[in-house]
Amino acid sequence: MKKKIAILGSTGSIGTQTLDIIATHSNEFQAEVLTAGDNADLLIEQAKRFQPNCVVIANQSKYNYVKQALQDEDIKVFAGKEALEEVVTFSSIDIVLTAIVGFAGLKPTVAAIKHKKPIALANKETMVVAGEEITRLAVENNVPILPVDSEHSAIFQCIQGEYHNKIKQILLTASGGAFRGLKRKDLENITVEDALTNPNWQMGRKVTIDSATLMNKGLEVIEAKWLFDVDVDNITAVIHPQSIVHSMVEFEDGSIKAQLSRPNMRLPILYALSYPKRIKYDNVDLNIFDVKNLTFDKPDIDTFPCLSLAYKAIKKGGNMPCIMNAANEVAVSKFLRGEIKFLQIPDIIDRAMEEFAFIKDCDIDTYIQTDREVKDKLIRK
Ligand code: NDP
Repeated sequence: MKKKIAILGSTGSIGTQTLDIIATHSNEFQAEVLTAGDNADLLIEQAKRFQPNCVVIANQSKYNYVKQALQDEDIKVFAGKEALEEVVTFSSIDIVLTAIVGFAGLKPTVAAIKHKKPIALANKETMVVAGEEITRLAVENNVPILPVDSEHSAIFQCIQGEYHNKIKQILLTASGGAFRGLKRKDLENITVEDALTNPNWQMGRKVTIDSATLMNKGLEVIEAKWLFDVDVDNITAVIHPQSIVHSMVEFEDGSIKAQLSRPNMRLPILYALSYPKRIKYDNVDLNIFDVKNLTFDKPDIDTFPCLSLAYKAIKKGGNMPCIMNAANEVAVSKFLRGEIKFLQIPDIIDRAMEEFAFIKDCDIDTYIQTDREVKDKLIRK
């Protein structure tokens, strides 16, 4: 039996790589649902090629365009944000891969968990904003959350067979992004193009900027806390420019386990989809004799304060990670549009964390309200 996959965000970096895997492993996997935000043309192309049961275009104004293009295909077409929450509940789906970027991934993920769909989680912002609620719902519905993020996949692989052993420390590796080694004064006039160049990973625009500010590592610290139930004081970010060691776990006896591979997202995507099996995948092998130098350094938090902001947010708890995430989403999109400078990104987030109302006890609606409030105010500024 093929595993039927709903890919939320099939037109993005993770989504297209997931479809590559489905194409090369068509005996194992099948695309059941494909969704896009805005990119109707790519969604249509993917639908014609992969023949899913249905597609969703979140931008409702593109519904007629997609519907018309697929009129000769046996593929249902839906549009709008609510449709994303509905399609993940289809009984034919075996696993939902959440590769929407940002807060927009939250509601469909919640809907999928409530309908007992296993989650292959790429959309880290969901765990950052609502990790406590998401993990509670996952336990309540007996739903596995399988990490797609390479670092969390590495940790997940390191703890296989270790469930009764306490984790002493998670060592979360980071490439260091486009500006590793630079100081604040070097970052004053960098351009969007400079920031969109990651040395090791080809990713979507938002996560590439997050990587350059080190906010990506901050988001991942929070994601790791919830996925692996580890106190954030025991999660340490490590700059590892080669991106060969994807993270490490230190146990109580001092033993450190690591997962190594070439920097290629197809591996963690495949592992999340095939877990607990491992499936052959060509052309991604790491030749260990090519690895001459593996280095590990402390992050420069004076130059890249976003990492500290993430620790501060999760230690405060409540809606603070949600405030931080919303402010980051606004700041990154402003930077990408050329409206603010790179160094203003952490300033905007820091100020938002001071200014917006802190709420200790939250449910999903509190997060939705907080996200809307922060974004509305910051977008207008
Ligand atoms: P991309 O920007 O490349 O893709 C995002 C996807 O989400 C696209 O399909 C986009 O549709 C869709 N989308 C965007 N906004 C909305 C919305 N409001 N409603 C519905 N769909 C929407 O992002 P990535 O693939 O790089 O990242 C996706 C997630 O995975 C992020 O959370 C990221 O942090 C995480 N991740 C990414 C990695 C990577 O290597 N890329 C590595 C690890 C984690 P469209 O393009 O059609 O508008």
